[in-house]
Amino acid sequence: MLFSKLLLPTLKDAPQEAEVVSHKLMLRSGMIRKVASGIYTWLPLGLKVLKKVENIVREEMDNSGAQEVFMPMVQPRELWEETKRWEKMGPELLRIKDRHDRDFCLGPTHEEVITDIIRDNVKSYRELPLNIYQIQTKFRDEVRPRYGIMRGREFLMKDSYSFNIDEESLQETYLIMRETYKKVLERIGLEYKISAADSGAIGGDSSEEFHVLAENGEDTIAISDSSEFAINTELLLKDGEDISTLEGKPSPDGNGTIQIKKGIEVGHIFKLGKLYAESMKASVLNSDGNASTLFMGCYGIGVSRLVAAAIEQNHDEKGIVWPHSIAPFDINIISIGYDKNKDIAKASTDLYKELSEMNYSVLLDDRKDGYGVKIKDSELIGIPLNIVIGKKFTEDNEVELIGRNGEISTNPITEIKTILDFFKNK
Ligand code: ATP
Ligand code: MG
Repeated sequence: MLFSKLLLPTLKDAPQEAEVVSHKLMLRSGMIRKVASGIYTWLPLGLKVLKKVENIVREEMDNSGAQEVFMPMVQPRELWEETKRWEKMGPELLRIKDRHDRDFCLGPTHEEVITDIIRDNVKSYRELPLNIYQIQTKFRDEVRPRYGIMRGREFLMKDSYSFNIDEESLQETYLIMRETYKKVLERIGLEYKISAADSGAIGGDSSEEFHVLAENGEDTIAISDSSEFAINTELLLKDGEDISTLEGKPSPDGNGTIQIKKGIEVGHIFKLGKLYAESMKASVLNSDGNASTLFMGCYGIGVSRLVAAAIEQNHDEKGIVWPHSIAPFDINIISIGYDKNKDIAKASTDLYKELSEMNYSVLLDDRKDGYGVKIKDSELIGIPLNIVIGKKFTEDNEVELIGRNGEISTNPITEIKTILDFFKNK
């Protein structure tokens, strides 16, 4: 991709409304633009990152044995009446009417739709367990949309729903999802904690949240300084108790003491049990030939929120520092004098082709600007590696490699391939 052709409206300063660093940097680096409160357009650079996250999630879900579907965003009132959630949901559920005056809502989640499909189409325990997922736009009319796409009203979620014949089977699927979420976060390269969470009406240990650790996280979690133990402080605090009183207390798991951290909830796994299946009369025939109410689990990942969380955890004063796994481009060729010097233009284009053939995604900065402007933009948008073709190339056939992490080296252009093999394995 040529930089000069890319719709990449970078900003020197972040607009007033942006409070947290990820929101500021997403606006400044031209990844997103606001359309209305909590509703955003993803511009080309942002969309590349979003798709990378989405693909990692999809690959790991497929590897886990889950099956992808695509459900409608617009859902009829009747289904929501069955679970009584049409009344219960309150104003977060955006309700609309069609031309015949029939009620619909924009899906904030899809338990009703998927349970309806399964009860009509799955008849026997032999067809279970099933784990069905989708990656889709959700709408929740949040009271306080904020932090850009971190808490949007319209956002992208991977939601999945498992259907199991009994509690043991549900437990198995739950643990598979837990491992899958760990793989997703490890592949992206984020530091995270799995915290016991408030599971509302269901209670017990049937829900866990995945938190990306970051100062601007909306959740406060208590972690042990000497074990994996983590818990959302919502669960630990007694009425009126202050969070600061927890710090330094013995960890509830008996290992070490409590430390308080801020986290961004990027995933939530949940054992629903028979809750929805009972109200929607979803059952199958069990091995004795009797109707048996299904056990369900639900598992969500905030795909768009993960993009913001990755920035919260990976940035510096110059801009975003993408983990390689989700960087919008692997390499930026900064060509100095592209418009004036034929040798430089040719060397840049040749290198661009060569690297693209090696399956790198490459940006070629062909703009008239000087080195200062170009490196600043590249640092802002967080490209892992820059290759500068300029004066050193004309004089000595050498290019400069500048990593986003600050590593710099000067090398003959002919050695680029060897060096990149090293980069790829990093
Ligand atoms: P929160 O407590 O942040 O409101 P939630 O418990 O309502 O989250 P779930 O219903 O479990 O969230 O949804 C699954 C995932 O979807 C969450 O873990 C989060 O990553 C993401 N998510 C939820 N609400 C939003 C939102 N308004 N904007 C972006 N992502 C969201
Ligand atoms: Mg919520």
